[in-house]
Amino acid sequence: MSEMKKAGFASIIGRPNVGKSTLFNALAGERISIVKDTPGITRDRIYAETSWSGREFIMIDTGGIEPESKDIILSQMRTQAQIAIDSADVIIFVTDVRTGIITNIETSERPFRVTIDGEKEVEAEAVIICTGASAKYLGLESEMKFRGMGVSACATCDGFFYRKKVVAVVGGGDTACEEANYLSGLASKVYLIVRKPFLRASQIMQDRVLNNEKIEVLFETNTLGLYGEDGVEGARLIYKKGEPEEKTYDLPIDGFFLAIGHRPNSEVFRPWIETDETGYIKTIPGTPRTSLPGIFAAGDVADPHYRQAIIAAGSGAQAAMEAEKYLSTLE
Ligand SMILES: Cc1cc2nc3c(=O)[nH]c(=O)nc-3n(C[C@H](O)[C@H](O)[C@H](O)COP(=O)(O)OP(=O)(O)OC[C@H]3O[C@@H](n4cnc5c(N)ncnc54)[C@H](O)[C@@H]3O)c2cc1C
Repeated sequence: MSEMKKAGFASIIGRPNVGKSTLFNALAGERISIVKDTPGITRDRIYAETSWSGREFIMIDTGGIEPESKDIILSQMRTQAQIAIDSADVIIFVTDVRTGIITNIETSERPFRVTIDGEKEVEAEAVIICTGASAKYLGLESEMKFRGMGVSACATCDGFFYRKKVVAVVGGGDTACEEANYLSGLASKVYLIVRKPFLRASQIMQDRVLNNEKIEVLFETNTLGLYGEDGVEGARLIYKKGEPEEKTYDLPIDGFFLAIGHRPNSEVFRPWIETDETGYIKTIPGTPRTSLPGIFAAGDVADPHYRQAIIAAGSGAQAAMEAEKYLSTLE
């Protein structure tokens, strides 16, 4: 090992999609820390087979496989990165992977100080936030039990598995209407379960739903639970809860889609960085730059609209390139 170009270092906060493409696409010569949380929770999908500086990094599609296997693959990827370092004549990058939850970030001084699990600290000249956005669930026990076995929070992602089947979508806003419409192109029947006696969606979305003969809207209805043996077989619903017409009944369905919004994982950063009213980190349009120079945001945490893996990965690469440019200005 001879020289190491050390222009600065960056922390990548968050994990899979953005983190990987960021790591493998740019920041050559920088020191990178990747901070992530519990292994195996989110999806890791195929991005690239990257041949870079004479070394090949093969990324493997781990989408749809068991969490345990994902962890094995992730650990192999780490080892591979380490081998690249150990056997290289010239250090390309040093990957320093730390596991934990970011509990604080101190931005009043440079370098930034990032706190992990309330105790350990990493210093970083640049930070890329890619902590994603979590779908909101109703909070039912059976929802958790059937997650990935009939319960989904993404129609575009999982709709394909419900071709010619009966599904229900929960929600009354634009997203719910959009998901119901999308699913109506695949499923044989779509129920839209709406808490209120009306839809909150824009008029155009409402019209699309109400004029779609495959969609039946169940107004003033709440879900009490889901039932089934090895997957969802139906939902227990309550109509007009607490009113004289109250009625509880079972609705046979194969799939249950949540469309009641997402919560961007940006709480820790909100005191320092501008977000929109729902907590999505605001970036300068077309760039991953946030309101604070040196802090970049990529993936779902900064994307209220698309929330898809390939878009998150692309924005991660953008963030890495921007971070590299930023670090070079500090030299
Ligand atoms: C059920 C489902 C199916 C999907 N299927 C598809 C699909 O088929 N195709 C597709 O393109 N997209 C799909 N998506 C969307 C895709 O998963 C996301 O767009 C993508 O994962 C976003 O990547 P990200 O890196 O921004 O966030 P994430 O993948 O969510 O990663 C963020 C990571 O940061 C961690 N984190 C959060 N807060 C902290 C903190 N304070 N400190 C440290 N770590 C933290 C999170 O735990 C998580 O591991 C699906 C989503 C869901 C929910």
